[in-house]
Amino acid sequence: MDDGTWDARADDGGDPACWLSRVCPECGGLADEDPPTRCPRCGSELPAG
Ligand SMILES: [Zn+2]
Repeated sequence: MDDGTWDARADDGGDPACWLSRVCPECGGLADEDPPTRCPRCGSELPAG
């Protein structure tokens, strides 16, 4: 059935929350590791959870 019901989420293979939690709320930068850590761009703390 090629009716355009392709689901992007099925092709991801990963949990978006894995990297969304690393996005700095202050500048939008992406940390190199899972929180708790600090933003490499602005130094803001990225809290765990
Ligand atoms: Zn930042």
